[in-house]
Amino acid sequence: MNVQLFTTPSTYEYLFFYIYIFILGTCLGSFFLLLGQRIPRGEDIVKKRSHCENCNHALAFWELIPLFSYILLKGKCRNCHEKIGFVYIGFECLSGILFTSTAFLLKTTNETLVAWTLLSLLLIITVTDITAQKIPNKILLPFCILAIIERFAVQQLNPWWFAPAGFAVGFGVLLLLALLSKGGMAGGDIKLFAVLGIVLGPIYIMITLVLASILALVYSIGELIIKKKLRKHIPFGPFIAIGSWLVYCYATGQFNDAFLLFFGSKI
Ligand SMILES: [Zn+2]
Repeated sequence: MNVQLFTTPSTYEYLFFYIYIFILGTCLGSFFLLLGQRIPRGEDIVKKRSHCENCNHALAFWELIPLFSYILLKGKCRNCHEKIGFVYIGFECLSGILFTSTAFLLKTTNETLVAWTLLSLLLIITVTDITAQKIPNKILLPFCILAIIERFAVQQLNPWWFAPAGFAVGFGVLLLLALLSKGGMAGGDIKLFAVLGIVLGPIYIMITLVLASILALVYSIGELIIKKKLRKHIPFGPFIAIGSWLVYCYATGQFNDAFLLFFGSKI
């Protein structure tokens, strides 16, 4: 007689699973904020307790739980009542939403693991590039190793050599641009493109470059119109992050699936 250990999960069980992923995603977002702020400054990640930036009050364990603590504390520090920036809670929620939507659209496939790795890298470098204008090797190197392992052992690209080819194209083209623009491209951007190339392959990494450049250009023009001033250096990292995530979602069919879900037909 066949004994069925696991039956197909019910809608409620799925709902529970996605709520769990969302909470996990917000906690990861909170951790990425900490990593992104501390690594460029060379601060210790483990030893130093999380604290209020204003009064240095060390946060209790429950104050570290994103969203929950924000609502409970009404967005203020428990000690000095200084307002906690909305950007923090926004970043944590965005992180939760992205982790959940990817899990929902890719289902529990091997690619979900690659997607979450990519998402983690992009969220961290967005923080480091905005706060410190840096994409540190300490972050790029572990993600580079992870990307190689995942693209060879977890979910290969089709054909498999698209991963090393993507690395070469990402690194090569950005290096060429850096040489041509005489330092207009930072070293961190070049290495980031090499890592993204492993995940995306040679074709999608080129599309990412074009899309990220267009986004940065549109942003610069917008800033010029509003502030009537052109900044000398705009961090490219956040645009690479948005561009590569959009390209990745397109490449893995997530847009199609989302469209199908909401409108009942493919794009
Ligand atoms: Zn405080």
